[in-house]
Amino acid sequence: MAGFYEFHKNGRLYIKSEALDKCGVRHGFTTRQGGASHGKIEGMNFGFRVGDDPDDVYENYRTAAADLGLCYENFVLARQTHTDNIRCVTRSDAGKGITRESDITDTDGLITDEPDIPLVIFSADCVPILLVEPKKRVIAAVHSGWRGSVKKIARAAVQKMEECYNADAREIYAAIGASIGPCCFEVGEDTAALFPEEYVIPKQNGKCTVDLWRFNRDILTEAGLRGENISVLGECTVCQSDRYYSYRAHREHTGRLAAMIQI
Ligand SMILES: [Zn+2]
Repeated sequence: MAGFYEFHKNGRLYIKSEALDKCGVRHGFTTRQGGASHGKIEGMNFGFRVGDDPDDVYENYRTAAADLGLCYENFVLARQTHTDNIRCVTRSDAGKGITRESDITDTDGLITDEPDIPLVIFSADCVPILLVEPKKRVIAAVHSGWRGSVKKIARAAVQKMEECYNADAREIYAAIGASIGPCCFEVGEDTAALFPEEYVIPKQNGKCTVDLWRFNRDILTEAGLRGENISVLGECTVCQSDRYYSYRAHREHTGRLAAMIQI
């Protein structure tokens, strides 16, 4: 939890990064505690495609916007498909996925330098990453599941921040939120073979797990970030499935967590 802290509001819980606060951006990683969703996915669900009542999901967005100081009408959501595609979000995208249908498809990373436009990515075990370059005032939200990690989407996001917004990787701060941890991300041989050996941990039972946290951290340092500018929450969504939504722990009866960030 080093570098992060819990933010409680009327029974709801968010996880925030101290470094991102210092950069002067508004942000939060949501948990399932509190929220309007009920039934099997009780809590604070941000996914519209998981069988939840849309009115409850909209209410969760409204509540999170109020709690974190974000502009509800301007939320930008993408249709995530485990790609390494990054979209530069402009003012004309404001509200996509919330006040109108989002045409941002096949996209797993969002970047903007526009103020008052909160970027959102969802996850339920995948690795959520928030990035800020405070000098150029550029932010990014990245969904890095194991497929996205293999494609190094975090590096693609940093490169796009540099190319399109003149950001300096050495000035970027990164916060890596809760996801499936090295304790629980058990994979078969085929999947393990997609990762460099140093991130694959053999287990007693002959299977192995992969450390997506360290892998994404190293992808970010490779992309030019300073190690000390990267914070890893280190909480496992499967081990703490009462606190977080987890696809591995709850199978299809699970909601989606959100990572949100706004200039
Ligand atoms: Zn675990």
